[in-house]
Amino acid sequence: MRLRNIPRADRILSEHQKVIKNEAEKKGKWSMVFENEHPVYVEIGMGKGQFLTTLAEKNPDKNYIGIERYSSVLLRAVERLDAIEEKQGVKLENIRFICMDAADVPDVFEEEEVAGIYLNFSDPWPKKRHARRRLTSREFLKRYEKILDEDGVVEFKTDNQELFQFSLEQAKETGWNLKAISWDLHHDKEMCRGNVMTEYEEKFSSQGNPICKMTAAPSV
Ligand code: SAM
Repeated sequence: MRLRNIPRADRILSEHQKVIKNEAEKKGKWSMVFENEHPVYVEIGMGKGQFLTTLAEKNPDKNYIGIERYSSVLLRAVERLDAIEEKQGVKLENIRFICMDAADVPDVFEEEEVAGIYLNFSDPWPKKRHARRRLTSREFLKRYEKILDEDGVVEFKTDNQELFQFSLEQAKETGWNLKAISWDLHHDKEMCRGNVMTEYEEKFSSQGNPICKMTAAPSV
């Protein structure tokens, strides 16, 4: 997702309390940012933030960090959060955002600092020569392995079956443990329990596309 450049985005984000600046300085100190020891979950490639804000509302005992590369997209997530907080008259204290490239996650999170990583409808990068840019490539899995805690998992959803097949293969080849797989999440009663929809998930499933999901953990 890349929205047209919004000139005011950088200024608004730089002034917003929920958007973390100098994120590398928070490495190993996220519990201080949230002022509690609750587990930290990260969504990479968050887009407009529906999934993560819903989780943050549902689970006040968990902390959530949304990573998005483009400021124009992140602005939408921030505006969405502001609207929810205004409507409810309460602040969601358990959510933060970072505008950054996911390739830098090991600079931002200490070893074992993250309880879970969500990847939702990640860009497919269909050309073979761009495979290492896919967020489920072995290069990215190695980065996630560094920051996940001992029970940590990656949860990945997509409607792109080629990308899903690629992701399963990359996980297997790098020794990850495939804990759950569905090629049709919305018709899999067990795996779909508690499922929170993303913007892309709503769009593609309403067009009749089956949604694939894998849950995978690094080898110990
Ligand atoms: N997760 C949302 C959903 O399911 O509705 C948005 C999906 S959209 C196809 C993918 C998002 O990931 C885009 O907003 C894109 O800017 C972001 N993204 C892609 N590669 C990224 C990277 N390397 N680091 C951070 N964000 C990235």
